[in-house]
Amino acid sequence: MRCPYCSSDDTQVKDSRPAEDNTVIRRRRVCGDCGGRFTTFERVQLRDLNVIKKSGRRAPFDRDKLARSVQTALRKRPVEPERIERMITGIVRQLESSGDSDVASEAIGHLVVEGLRGLDDVAYVRFASVYRNFREAKDFEELLDELSGDEEAEAGAEKPADEEGDKN
Ligand SMILES: [Zn+2]
Repeated sequence: MRCPYCSSDDTQVKDSRPAEDNTVIRRRRVCGDCGGRFTTFERVQLRDLNVIKKSGRRAPFDRDKLARSVQTALRKRPVEPERIERMITGIVRQLESSGDSDVASEAIGHLVVEGLRGLDDVAYVRFASVYRNFREAKDFEELLDELSGDEEAEAGAEKPADEEGDKN
């Protein structure tokens, strides 16, 4: 695994353990050249997915991007990270088992709305209000940008709980 800081290939796994109900292996890695530390996650992926954007463009599905938009909608909401992860995994599993490896960005947004509805009312409204605009005119990319913009507008708050393990 290449070091994200200095691009060296000389990195080592320092610690490896299961997370998220044993659906993920989390590895702490350290770079032998620059000493940089980073974490990787190994998850089951049933199949490769592509997102078909409103413009008709196709891009590889990016779980992290999905997770970021969900996290943004859930910012400062009292929802356990495990439940959020489980919801995201559930969405990905639904997409993977849908029978088609090409998924409309709109369909993903719809699953997120449905998932958030069961998780947290405020996050649901936040996401749904943006999603509704997206249905009319916007691309999934813009939806994500808009949610990120929200985040900056409310600056000064603590970071979302999407990063872990940088204590050492
Ligand atoms: Zn390095």
